[in-house]
Amino acid sequence: MAYKITSQCISCKLCLSVCPTGAIKVVDGIHWIDSELCTNCVGSIHTVPQCKAGCPTAHGCVKQSGDYWEGWFANYNRVLAKLTNKQDYWERWRNTYSQKFSEQLQKHQVVI
Ligand code: SF4
Ligand code: SF4
Repeated sequence: MAYKITSQCISCKLCLSVCPTGAIKVVDGIHWIDSELCTNCVGSIHTVPQCKAGCPTAHGCVKQSGDYWEGWFANYNRVLAKLTNKQDYWERWRNTYSQKFSEQLQKHQVVI
């Protein structure tokens, strides 16, 4: 789940320069985070989200609350993709499994 900028933001612009992915945008003076680009700083040299760490307000930049399992699967898929180096790991697994399963069915099919 990406970070988001709240109404407590005082537009100090500190977070703009520290985001490693360029996810923080300013439109009409309003700061916002592009959730497609925000990686929560995972995979960068930083160990904590830089926008939150540098923000001078208490809650100007917070993690978006979201569905627990959605977040869990997002993390799981990210780790899996890193380990296997394949984004479509489960799709390939399902295709291979289906193919092998139908081969076995054909092999053991009773001829009437
Ligand atoms: S969590 Fe990291 S990647 Fe996401 S907006 Fe903040 S600084 Fe950028
Ligand atoms: S660091 Fe915090 S207060 Fe400053 S622009 Fe970013 S979100 Fe707003």
